Amino acid sequence: MRPPFPTTPTHSCVRSLYDRLYATYGPQHWWPGDGPFDVIVGAILTQNTNWRNVEKALDALRNADIWSFKAIHGTERDDLADLIRPSGYFNQKARKLHEFAALVENDLNGNLDQLLDLPMDDLRTILLGIWGVGEETADDIVLYAADKPSFVIDTYTRRIVDRLGWRPQGVRYRDYQSLFTERLPSDATLFNEYHALLDEHASTVCRPTPRCNQCCLQDICATGTNAPSQSGRAQCA
Ligand code: SF4
Repeated sequence: MRPPFPTTPTHSCVRSLYDRLYATYGPQHWWPGDGPFDVIVGAILTQNTNWRNVEKALDALRNADIWSFKAIHGTERDDLADLIRPSGYFNQKARKLHEFAALVENDLNGNLDQLLDLPMDDLRTILLGIWGVGEETADDIVLYAADKPSFVIDTYTRRIVDRLGWRPQGVRYRDYQSLFTERLPSDATLFNEYHALLDEHASTVCRPTPRCNQCCLQDICATGTNAPSQSGRAQCA
């Protein structure tokens, strides 16, 4: 009889998940954008919507020549909200952009690098102090704009973890985050690629209705092993 599937993943399970996803999807080249400004604006706009809608909002900002924190700071919030309407929750997101721009322009004299160069924990704390910036947005910025190793947890990652049968210590953001950070080297390049691969997997295969019979993780997944045509269970490494 095979051993029961581990609900607390080992270090090798977490690494094996990455290896399988990378072998299946290849490098994802995240974050889509040209620099920290694009990443930060994209990280704020991408909450609760898909990237296609974010791109429409980014294009509108570019076309209106509002493509710096100085320009955002100098734009009326209602006008900003109109431009980013395609991204949804546009009034809230306009306020978040304004608050971020105010920090950069008023407190840092426009010097974004001064913020991004801070030690990771200090940077994360400051980001979380900005109105409307939650842990996922903060970690997106820490990882993809500042290139510091903070693992990003989003609804896609939670979905995959839950379906695999891994059980974090609780349901908080940091409970899911520690599943990864306690079992992987603290490496921004690895965290960058891992998060991107999880999002690719959740948006193409581990969708709301999962396509388990097309999945590279089926034999190591608690949900996948119960799917039609799959009866065996395997250890993940
Ligand atoms: S086997 Fe199914 S539930 Fe498990 S990760 Fe793959 S698609 Fe998701």
